[in-house]
Amino acid sequence: MKQIKCHICNSDRTWFLKKEGNWNIVQCELCGLVYVNPQPEEDFLKEHYQSYLPESQSDIDNWGKMMAGVFGESLRIINKTTGARRGKLLDIGCAHGFFIEAALNTGWEASGIDLSKQAVQYAEGRGLEVSNSTLFEKKYKDNYFDVITMFYVLEHLPDPGKYLKEIHRVLKPSGVLLVRVPHTTPIVKMLKMFNISNTLYDVPSHLTDFSPQSLKHILKKTGFNAIRTSIGGMTYPRSLSERCISCFFGTVGTILHKITFGKYLLPGISKTTIAIKNAKKIS
Ligand SMILES: [Zn+2]
Repeated sequence: MKQIKCHICNSDRTWFLKKEGNWNIVQCELCGLVYVNPQPEEDFLKEHYQSYLPESQSDIDNWGKMMAGVFGESLRIINKTTGARRGKLLDIGCAHGFFIEAALNTGWEASGIDLSKQAVQYAEGRGLEVSNSTLFEKKYKDNYFDVITMFYVLEHLPDPGKYLKEIHRVLKPSGVLLVRVPHTTPIVKMLKMFNISNTLYDVPSHLTDFSPQSLKHILKKTGFNAIRTSIGGMTYPRSLSERCISCFFGTVGTILHKITFGKYLLPGISKTTIAIKNAKKIS
């Protein structure tokens, strides 16, 4: 395990929020970012992700169905932002390739990367262009992609700022980045008031818990602008109770966002953020 500083403001001044297993979750006193500190080593994480994704055919199918609404809405947002323009799209953490397939169907030259060998083999078996690598290992050319997507990936990365800078490098000027992350802290704080124990932070899989504000900070810091966050559709879990909860909060969140003209974002639920690469050079 290693001690780290805040990914946004580089401060090491934190409040202790919660312990899950051996892991401490802290909040930066300066910018409010919530993260795990100390963090697991990268070798531990690479091993951890070999058994992270579903493996049986029925679990893979259910995962695809659960994400279909979010993927459809994300493509609608991307296509609205790019207009008629199509080109190269990279899905980072593509898992079994469901989003790549959906993007190919709307005219994108879509490919993906993922750490899970079995998920990449599965996607290759369906004829998709995927690679069992990290973004850094791929060494893509500068200004290469028109769009990069990350569904439930950024919260897993040990150094999200470094990763976003690499994304910025490989995106074309005015290229589009779409990120979807969960937002756990408001729910954990609410449960704490009622003394309800939980492991909702899902450590060591999740290492950072982004709010829309902290995500905006880190995106700006790494050279993105025109940052917009929306509810971005909802997931459809297999279990009826989870599906009802997801639909209820997803619908309430979407309505509140619409009637406040995009000002109010319901805390504690997953959201989709889109950002555009600022053509200015960053350090
Ligand atoms: Zn900070």
